[in-house]
Amino acid sequence: MLFNDLLRIADLKILSNVRLSAYTTFGIGGPVELLLIPGTLSALEQTVAYLEDRVPDYKVLGRGSNLLISDRGVRVVISLASLDRIGVPVNAPGSLSGPEGARHGDSARGHVRTVEVQAGCRLTSLLSWAVKRGLSGLEGMAGIPSSIGGSICMNAGTPSVCMADVVESVQVTGPSGSFWLDGKELDFGYRKCTMPRRSLITAARIRLAEDSPDRIRERMVRVIRSRRSTQPAGKKSAGCVFRNPEDDSAGRLIDRCGLKGTRVGDAAVSRKHANFIINCGRATASNVVELMEQISETVLTMAGKTLVPEISLWGFES
Ligand SMILES: Cc1cc2nc3c(=O)[nH]c(=O)nc-3n(C[C@H](O)[C@H](O)[C@H](O)COP(=O)(O)OP(=O)(O)OC[C@H]3O[C@@H](n4cnc5c(N)ncnc54)[C@H](O)[C@@H]3O)c2cc1C
Repeated sequence: MLFNDLLRIADLKILSNVRLSAYTTFGIGGPVELLLIPGTLSALEQTVAYLEDRVPDYKVLGRGSNLLISDRGVRVVISLASLDRIGVPVNAPGSLSGPEGARHGDSARGHVRTVEVQAGCRLTSLLSWAVKRGLSGLEGMAGIPSSIGGSICMNAGTPSVCMADVVESVQVTGPSGSFWLDGKELDFGYRKCTMPRRSLITAARIRLAEDSPDRIRERMVRVIRSRRSTQPAGKKSAGCVFRNPEDDSAGRLIDRCGLKGTRVGDAAVSRKHANFIINCGRATASNVVELMEQISETVLTMAGKTLVPEISLWGFES
């Protein structure tokens, strides 16, 4: 019934009973009954409106880089991967220069350009696109394997820059359609933002500043080098598993409790960065959850700190 009705939506690709492990950077995740991949905003709007009363607990997938999906899986997922267009910079050179420009990078502080990009676009694709055009602002986030939508939802970033610094406005889509919101209305905080109820991000306008491609590339290379020296590059993971407690670092606490290398099945605490759990082969979601519980209990007992997951958990509700 659900399947047949959805077939009527033009530009909606429907996959049934696929394993979500193929769609997460962890390489973990059980089956999904329906994986819906809209190719246009209109297809997405119709899908969201259709699911609103029928499957209100549907999930939204960006690039799956901050997700742990249960082994039993979930029912319906909308993937935004096909909504990945990057527009042309909208404002003419000079129109937003001055103090606004000073928010970006440490360079000559060129004119600010606003770029419209769809939510499923990879952050790395937007970054490559921007470097070629001499547009700076994202290089501090080089190497984060997220979609634009996911990185806005999580306010992804590093200690030096985060999405809140560059997002001018976002397009959100809910059961009654799509509309634009000023970035400030998202009330960004540490790895979070507040979205209108029952809505998802479908596009964003990002502020970038003109700079020389060489300088941007240099900064990007520095960021990627530093990432490689501190994080388990090339391993399957979901990035940092726990949020940093106030005034402390989850990785430092886990390391000080001697947990690097601790293993449950094929899930292991990275020896390079203690806040990363890596899938060494055939880890299951249950392995990861058990390991997360061990970590939390040990850190609470030994350091008196409560760790809260940063990764999103799907399909663990009873
Ligand atoms: C190797 C590695 C390094 C990483 N380094 C960093 C880092 O330096 N800094 C950092 O902040 N993060 C880092 N991460 C974590 C991750 O990349 C970010 O949290 C990212 O923002 C998640 O984006 P995504 O598109 O993959 O979202 P997903 O993992 O697909 O989804 C995450 C959550 O966001 C929701 N979501 C996704 N897209 C949308 C949308 N368009 N509308 C509404 N909800 C949506 C999902 O429903 C889910 O709840 C790293 C991850 C890895 C694997």
